[in-house]
Amino acid sequence: MHPTYVRGERQMTTIKTTCGTCGDVELTPADLALELDAAGDGGSYRFRCPDCGDVSRRPASARVVSVLLATGVVYEMVPTGPITEFEISGFVTALDREPNPFRLLAG
Ligand SMILES: [Zn+2]
Repeated sequence: MHPTYVRGERQMTTIKTTCGTCGDVELTPADLALELDAAGDGGSYRFRCPDCGDVSRRPASARVVSVLLATGVVYEMVPTGPITEFEISGFVTALDREPNPFRLLAG
């Protein structure tokens, strides 16, 4: 007696990504969590590598976000953080060097 399988019937959704230690790995939606940027349409996702157990975080474009959401990955909204001191001092430095500050805003 031979078991019969309908091709693809029991196939789980797998998501290919890259672990910094192991290289290419395949995840299921349950291995991932999306962190969506409340101010934009992108975000990042984090996952636990099934091979080494390390938790990694990767940026996710709007397209990646929509694909992951379609596969049932859980998500959370992350409020955009306040501007850091480093960013402010960098902007002030740029202002000092820039004869026309409005050009900075255009960029
Ligand atoms: Zn790994």
